Amino acid sequence: MKPAPFQYFAPTSTDEALTLLTEHGYDAKLLAGGQSLIPTMNFRLAQPAVLIDLNHIPDLAYIQPSADGGLRIGAMTRQRAVEKSDLIIQRAPLLHATMPYIAHVQIRNRGTIGGSLAHADPAAELPVIAVALNAQLKVCSKLGERWVSAEDFYVALFATDLAPDEILAEIVLPPLLPRTGWSIQEVARRRGDYAIVGVAATVGLDEQGRCTDARIVLLSVGEGPTQARQAMAMLQGERPTPALIAAAAETCATKDIDPTADIHASVAFRRHLANVLTKRALAEAFQRAGQERL
Ligand code: FAD
Repeated sequence: MKPAPFQYFAPTSTDEALTLLTEHGYDAKLLAGGQSLIPTMNFRLAQPAVLIDLNHIPDLAYIQPSADGGLRIGAMTRQRAVEKSDLIIQRAPLLHATMPYIAHVQIRNRGTIGGSLAHADPAAELPVIAVALNAQLKVCSKLGERWVSAEDFYVALFATDLAPDEILAEIVLPPLLPRTGWSIQEVARRRGDYAIVGVAATVGLDEQGRCTDARIVLLSVGEGPTQARQAMAMLQGERPTPALIAAAAETCATKDIDPTADIHASVAFRRHLANVLTKRALAEAFQRAGQERL
């Protein structure tokens, strides 16, 4: 399959890209790694009249430490660079552990962190991790820049808060607090496939071993990253016993999510996976947090 004809621009600065985007707006698409956009164009599901290629803008690709112990990641940073970065291993181990679940090395060599976040596939891992880690996203247009939390960025199926004249420029991850644990769990039919269900969990413990904060975010069970809010509330202020973890996982699977059936899984199977994976994710996350406490 071949894409419909389009005009191609290769700006060398963010400002130039923003000027082009302002000019072409709804007719234009930004090209990052092309790993989702190009197949969509080849199937003619997307037919942008204009393609604005971000690959020649070096200023958009970086991984930098922030002074507070967090991280700043440029939107055009390749997924493989995120996977291999020592800074990510040290400061965002959940993100590091997630990278091998995304497609295959060849795809991660081209695919970018910003492209995956902006594409907003409900089966993608990175939007879920961004919400689980409470990432803040820097969005730029010719009018200036604004910040939006990952939680507010996802508005519907394959839809984000981005306006047609805006570029996602940077992802900021806050520092991990002491006694924080994390886990990523998913089930896919084959390694590298999109997951049938996935769960990311981050938890915090106080010095007495009570849960100070819990985030449980799922993929492939809704229109975007899905937070298990009732399950999260059950853990707040409590000691994480196996019984509590099992009850929270059950609540997540039966009350917090509203999955749909497709050719890969029935609703019942998705709920079953959500239950099992949430239990595993919470157990591992609390264990990690507790180990740090001892
Ligand atoms: P592109 O394809 O270039 O762009 C995607 C969309 O985002 C486009 O609409 C584009 O205009 C927009 N966009 C890109 N960058 C920006 C920006 N900076 N600001 C605003 N808008 C922007 N992903 C997973 O998460 N898990 C998987 O298991 C998985 N498996 C895959 C298997 C295959 C075979 C393939 C081909 C892809 C798979 N992917 C998977 C998707 C992959 O991770 C893509 O790299 C990712 O979804 C898109 O990133 P990209 O940089 O290629 O973006």
